[in-house]
Amino acid sequence: MKYLCVYCGSNAGNDPRYGETAVALGKRIAAEGMGLVYGGGNVGLMGIVADAVLEAGGEVIGVIPEHLVKFEVAHKGLTRLEVVSSMHERKARMFDLAQGFIALPGGFGTLDEMFEMLTWRQLGLGDRPCAFLDVADFYAPLMQMIDRMVETRFLHPDQRRDLWHGDDIDALFAWMRDYAPAKADKWMDEKRRQDIR
Ligand code: AMP
Repeated sequence: MKYLCVYCGSNAGNDPRYGETAVALGKRIAAEGMGLVYGGGNVGLMGIVADAVLEAGGEVIGVIPEHLVKFEVAHKGLTRLEVVSSMHERKARMFDLAQGFIALPGGFGTLDEMFEMLTWRQLGLGDRPCAFLDVADFYAPLMQMIDRMVETRFLHPDQRRDLWHGDDIDALFAWMRDYAPAKADKWMDEKRRQDIR
């Protein structure tokens, strides 16, 4: 793996542990000899993780849509900042560049990006590892929701198993190294729609 993509809040949250974990993850990415791909911002956890990788001597590629550059929230000190024309293009570019995806705590943007990767993966578009690196149980309610999707048969249990969730960075990197994608089908129902009606 050469590049890891990190999705995370453009705010830093209300607990210093969010930022501390962003720093620890950034340092670890550089120590592994990998580069960071991220949204290119200099704000919140995004700026924190990028700075941590750069300070540890790692490479950072930011992919930012033009309209956000105008808000002057782009990071000016990256190894490379790619300016793209839309949010859609950004997601596709980040997907092309990275071999694994990690979500730190964040808001709508973080979940949107991570769920798009999970959605593409379950439809057979890419088989790269996706992990939620948790801090202070931030993602516990989301994991409950995902378990509910499995219980209610909207999500294949193998897709749930294929997603890593935890707060241990060593365990995360070990899992990523040995990652073998699930071969689960997206669709579980034998019944066709007209049978159900
Ligand atoms: P959120 O979790 O809602 O704060 O959104 C974070 C995600 O949205 C990041 O991973 C970025 O891709 C994108 N994003 C939000 N704000 C910015 C910003 N100021 N600069 C660059 N990307 C941003």
